[in-house]
Amino acid sequence: DVHGVQDMSIQKGLKVLCDGDAMPFVEEQKMAEPVQVVVANEDDHEFVLDEVTLERILLQENIRDLNVVVVSVAGAFRKGKSFLLDFMLRYMYNQKSDFWLGGNDEPLTGFSWRGGCERETTGILAWSEVFVVEKPDGNKVAVLLIDTQGAFDSQSTIKDCATLFALSTMISSVQVYNLSQNVQEDDLQHLQLFTEYGRLAMEEVYLKPFQSLVFLIRDWSYPYEHAYGLEGGKTFLEKRLQVKQNQHEELQNVRKHIHSCFSNISCFLLPHPGLKVATNPNFDGRLNDIDHEFKKELINLVPLLLAPENLVEKEISGSKVTCRDLVQYFKAYMKIYQGEELPHPKSMLQATAEANNLAAIAGAKDTYNKNMEQVCGGDKPYIAPTDLEHRHAKYKQDSVQQFRSVKKMGGEDFCRRYQEQLEAELDEAYANFVKHNDGKNIFYAARTPATLFAVMFS
Ligand code: GDP
Ligand code: MG
Repeated sequence: DVHGVQDMSIQKGLKVLCDGDAMPFVEEQKMAEPVQVVVANEDDHEFVLDEVTLERILLQENIRDLNVVVVSVAGAFRKGKSFLLDFMLRYMYNQKSDFWLGGNDEPLTGFSWRGGCERETTGILAWSEVFVVEKPDGNKVAVLLIDTQGAFDSQSTIKDCATLFALSTMISSVQVYNLSQNVQEDDLQHLQLFTEYGRLAMEEVYLKPFQSLVFLIRDWSYPYEHAYGLEGGKTFLEKRLQVKQNQHEELQNVRKHIHSCFSNISCFLLPHPGLKVATNPNFDGRLNDIDHEFKKELINLVPLLLAPENLVEKEISGSKVTCRDLVQYFKAYMKIYQGEELPHPKSMLQATAEANNLAAIAGAKDTYNKNMEQVCGGDKPYIAPTDLEHRHAKYKQDSVQQFRSVKKMGGEDFCRRYQEQLEAELDEAYANFVKHNDGKNIFYAARTPATLFAVMFS
């Protein structure tokens, strides 16, 4: 119920007012809070939409009939999403001020990691206040900020997250994909998985089902190759997403897929915020403790996402969507994922992981065979069985080592199964080498009359 929340908010606001010396916008900000709208059910790995909370946010009287702009920041835990979102909030609360970044000694609040928010909860959080902004054309829009986070560290968690990220991509007009240091091949594969899974759930096949995607690279450390900011991000991303002639088909597909899903793709390179931010446990977000370069780029980044002239209204099948509509879409999308008709995203990821592992097995086996051919191939003389065994042991170890050093998807347990398969196949190959080698031993061969006959008359 809408009023309940407002009452609570007012109380909080009053408390801050009584506390005294806070800046005016901080008071306002305190009245709202991050609320979880999609919750992960830890027992059955299902996601549940908190419809009451969603409606409480999106059906507030002043915004429910406005076109909605949904800006989502998505990515793994502990990569500075909340930190960024807090600055986005400062911007929203101080649009009209040139000093929106805040005071030098002011602690950062909002989605913050401080005050008990340390728990790493998988899900979608929304800022409870939806902002009303007037665009340059005079139209008012409603701006919703959301935070999507999940783990990407194992086969099962990636599977769980596919739904979550697909959902947030479907409901947002701008998806900020928050990555640390670089865009890795894994990041692109995950993105492909989420977007493909999102596309599956859309009612019709649209040419470009999603709107804007912003790769946000944190701790960028090659500014001399690609400068910080949007321009450097553009040249970097062009290079990273380029489809090359001689590239593996799989890599080409990921790139084509990403291009086909979003109307607009960009990239922003953000510098490291400095050691205090990254490592000091007492850091509270104050500007004084943040590197100058980082703040400089932040001042460019946040308005790119949130300035009135840059706001992207959410569209579904070519029509703009109001806050009220969004509630319905959200519920409908959620239902699709709860239904049984959709293929499991697992199959796609698993297929990729399997392909990775099988390719690594093939490469490792090839090395083993080549090495053994050098020792006991068809044109080599008979060697003592104990020597052969020693060689086998060494080359087997090398081969397994090679397999292990190839970068593979699927996680350690998954890869171990394939390592076991490799080891079994190497033992089998060894048994054949032994047989061949024994065949070259004339004394051994002579023991059976048939081979003696063959040897004598060949
Ligand atoms: P979230 O889990 O992605 O929301 O991450 P948080 O915003 O809670 O930040 C996790 C930690 O990283 C905190 O200690 C932040 O001070 C720190 N942090 C925030 N932004 C950055 C960044 O751009 N680079 C680095 N290295 N650390 C950051
Ligand atoms: Mg967070």
